[in-house]
Amino acid sequence: MLEGEALWQTVLGEIEVSVSRASYVTWFKNTQLLRHSDEEIVVGVPNIFAKQQLELKFNELISETLEKQGVNASNVAYKIHTPRVAKPQKNTNDSDQVSLVSTSNQKTTANEEIVNLNSQANSNTLRQGLNEKYTFDTFVAGSSNELAYAACQAISANPGTKYNPLFIYGGVGIGKTHLIQAVGNEVLKNNPNAKVVYITTEQFVQEFTDSIRYKKIGAFSQHYRSVDVLIIDDIQFIAGKEKTQEEFFHTFNVLHQANKQVILSSDQPPHLIPTLEDRLRSRFQMGMSIDMQTPEFETRCAIIKTKAENNSFDIEQDCIEFLANSFATNIRELEGALNQLMAYCDLRNCDPTLEVAKVVFAKLASRPKHITPKQIVEKVAKYYRIELEDIVGPKRDKDIVVPRQVAMYLLRTELKLSFPRIATELGRKDHTTAIHSVDKINKESNVDLILKQQLQEIKEGL
Ligand code: ADP
Ligand code: MG
Repeated sequence: MLEGEALWQTVLGEIEVSVSRASYVTWFKNTQLLRHSDEEIVVGVPNIFAKQQLELKFNELISETLEKQGVNASNVAYKIHTPRVAKPQKNTNDSDQVSLVSTSNQKTTANEEIVNLNSQANSNTLRQGLNEKYTFDTFVAGSSNELAYAACQAISANPGTKYNPLFIYGGVGIGKTHLIQAVGNEVLKNNPNAKVVYITTEQFVQEFTDSIRYKKIGAFSQHYRSVDVLIIDDIQFIAGKEKTQEEFFHTFNVLHQANKQVILSSDQPPHLIPTLEDRLRSRFQMGMSIDMQTPEFETRCAIIKTKAENNSFDIEQDCIEFLANSFATNIRELEGALNQLMAYCDLRNCDPTLEVAKVVFAKLASRPKHITPKQIVEKVAKYYRIELEDIVGPKRDKDIVVPRQVAMYLLRTELKLSFPRIATELGRKDHTTAIHSVDKINKESNVDLILKQQLQEIKEGL
């Protein structure tokens, strides 16, 4: 009977031919056998997502394949473990934590990227929340966004001197986060010692709340009041959070007086954000407010072209135009469509012609619309193996909150329900929770390949 490394390589070999290439590379490639005894088999996996995925979807396949090798596989466990491949910095942390080490100059694998991006939600130690892919170089400017683009470039060159604060507002998926992150990256490029912090409002509120709970307000204030550039995304979510507003008001004043740059983004202009304290509203209006619009047709085409080229993907002009016309309001969706088309062509080994694009996106358009909201919620609960009463109940555990947000997202995208209705379906009183959840899943599904795949699988099951 095979053992250890040889056993696992054999198992992987079998699995490689029975799952798709993408699944194999994403979920199995960096696994290893950590322990193998009569009682238990422990498989080391690189991150929490692989762990979940293997447990949820591939456990049976793994057990069966092990048993074919004569191994008693009734008890297989998955444990997060730093992969064998040497990393530049050694992560000695053996707990169930994902590595926060950023391999900035290395080409990261899809999995590492997911880990990096996700860890931003929990930590501001990772390049202070900045994602390196958001730069001015990768941003396509056009008439809808050129003012914002120019202001951001001007700020990068001389932070804190003009346009302070910079307040950028506009609809979902039009490049606000990209641009404000680009400022942070550019400032750091010019001055690696600058203290740049990017944080989402949601995260800011959470950290502030935690700092109260753990009596660390002093450290919290000190941290945010000592930065050179403070970038806060989606500031509309500070609405109704009185204590956070107060804290932010003081932070803002300290930074502003010291000529430190503050950059804010929002889905609405300051005067339309509800329940925002007047003194904060007036601060937001002190510098420069820019209304960013959805990129117009030509810019959308240019964006597709650039992104396709970056992926060495050769795409015909009429196909580009078809995409730009079909996905007109949200660049995130446009990008998603391009990714989908690339994956389709890759898997079927065909060229991205207009005909192919029509086939790929016809499927989306022709989804039957007779599913009920309840069915969607039930499907999601079942998919994540949680109880229906939990998904619509008060629990706030992460393994319940995420499925709940996914359910809200699907109610929005699949059934186009209103936000108040979505909130009701999930037993929530406040419809801003629904707005927030839909937006969050929408954003995360773009960077989190596992989430994206999960959404796809749930949708296919509907
Ligand atoms: P928002 O914050 O306004 O909701 P994002 O900045 O997250 O939108 O943009 C959504 C996606 O679209 C990101 O992946 C971003 O890189 C891309 N994107 C948006 N506008 C542009 C643009 N003008 N050029 C290149 N990519 C863009
Ligand atoms: Mg954003």
